[in-house]
Amino acid sequence: MMIVMQANATAEEVQQVIGVIESQGFHPHVSRGAERVVIGVIGEARRAQADTFLRLPGVARVVPLSHPYKLASREFHPDRRVVTVGGVPIGGDEVVFIAGPCSVESRSQVLETAQAVKEAGAHVLRGGAFKPRTSPYSFQGLGEEGLVLLAEAREATGLPVVTEVMAPEQVPLVARYADMLQIGARNMQNYALLRAAGASGMPVLLKRGMSATLDELLLAAEYLLSTGNEQVVLCERGIRTFETATRNTTDINAIPALKARTSLPVILDPSHSTGHWAYVLPVARAGIAAGADGLIVEVHPRPEEALSDGAQSLKPERFARLVREARAIAAAVGRSALHEVPHVAAD
Ligand code: PEP
Ligand code: MN
Repeated sequence: MMIVMQANATAEEVQQVIGVIESQGFHPHVSRGAERVVIGVIGEARRAQADTFLRLPGVARVVPLSHPYKLASREFHPDRRVVTVGGVPIGGDEVVFIAGPCSVESRSQVLETAQAVKEAGAHVLRGGAFKPRTSPYSFQGLGEEGLVLLAEAREATGLPVVTEVMAPEQVPLVARYADMLQIGARNMQNYALLRAAGASGMPVLLKRGMSATLDELLLAAEYLLSTGNEQVVLCERGIRTFETATRNTTDINAIPALKARTSLPVILDPSHSTGHWAYVLPVARAGIAAGADGLIVEVHPRPEEALSDGAQSLKPERFARLVREARAIAAAVGRSALHEVPHVAAD
């Protein structure tokens, strides 16, 4: 629930409400808006007594929330949140392009790709060193050697690096090399990993599980946020449906639906959501038109040689076209206006 204080509530009255929240075993989350203070009650809300708070001086209203995520919610955090990755703001006025290979395969491959995506307009380099592969016989990534190569590519291009971490015990190692930790679709509900990634204090790119609802994605984000780490970016990467013509189904709806529920930045991964290079550009355009704060795209100089996800990887020149067109679409839809909250019925 949320406790909305009266506009003229005193600091003592706010403090008293906080005291009662804490004495009931909950955590207060205080938002000081221009007009009034709103205090979120964090914990198992069922047990909280709305009446107790309504009787306290200075309290205007008690608003129950029908959804279980709180720190991730727009109600608790109405203003847009900008996550900064190696100096690159995600969730600001500009759309952000994250690009690079699915997997780091070799020094020359990652350096060549990093240079090419930078020239095409990318802001952040992606590349997997630890790969979550469906088959144990598929290429599993170069591990730490891959992280070293990513760091070298950052050095050479100035692009910050996002790379996947698959297990809680890998967090310190990956955090030493990366600027942002990626939690993959297959690990969205790995709660030990979420806690460890959150506690690292690093920015986290949280990908939607392929069968996860938006509520489940937001609750996974809540795990990260509840560690005190506010640097969370959500990523729609396609969901499983009955359709087999594409690897996944891009849930374009998720972009405005997430933005209605949360002020965290939301980006789209049109590579995994389609699984085919020819569909990446049209779906990327749709994502930006729908209000995504950025795109994460797989790029490989020779996709036919890629050790993973070659079929959905763009050659650099096509990625350059994607950047140009996505920018034009962002301008056409009035990018900054997209930060307005889509209308949703209040809970
Ligand atoms: C990836 O980014 O290469 C990846 C494995 O993505 P996802 O977790 O969305 O499948
Ligand atoms: Mn991939």
